[in-house]
Amino acid sequence: MKRKMIKRGNLIVICGPSGVGKGTVVKKLRELKEFYFSVSVTTRAPREGEVNGVDYVYVTVPEFQEMIDNNMLLEHAVYADTYYGSPRAPVEENLAAGFDVLLEIELDGARQIKKSMPEAKTIFILPPSIEVLESRLRSRGTETEEKIVKRLKRAEYELSCADEFDYCVVNDVAERVAKEILEIINNI
Ligand code: 5GP
Repeated sequence: MKRKMIKRGNLIVICGPSGVGKGTVVKKLRELKEFYFSVSVTTRAPREGEVNGVDYVYVTVPEFQEMIDNNMLLEHAVYADTYYGSPRAPVEENLAAGFDVLLEIELDGARQIKKSMPEAKTIFILPPSIEVLESRLRSRGTETEEKIVKRLKRAEYELSCADEFDYCVVNDVAERVAKEILEIINNI
């Protein structure tokens, strides 16, 4: 019997500075199309309302280190003194099964993915302005002042690297930008 060839799914990497509204855009995007969304592992504590296994898988630093040592992460980075990483197996399995996979990660991780999987499409979300970014970060009210300052400094650096990405979009209105990203994905 002839086996049907399955077309490999697309790997889509969404990146952008903290506070740019990636989470909301990704949520809208997932309402428009079905993706396998990669749930990252992190060593940071859950924020109020976050659910283990849905928003992140929360692990200790030794547990995270073990995942690195066992090559279980597709990429990983330290961001604001916290480890974040994308589990390898579910991403590879879903791509092989033909599903489009969405990663929502920061700059270092996006660079690692582009290097190891150059076929990945990287999309950078820009804020309408740095002032808007700062006010979004502050109004979230989830971080201490020290952490906000750290995230803003990092955001400025990340914004200066936007031209490394395959596509850049501006998050003026989440619904609109989600549709723009969908159009990009549909044209791959
Ligand atoms: P937050 O603590 O606000 O949830 O996330 C902080 C930053 O880490 C965000 O820019 C987010 O996109 C990024 N991030 C989340 N998961 C991962 C991951 O698995 N790998 C990398 N490299 N960054 C991640």
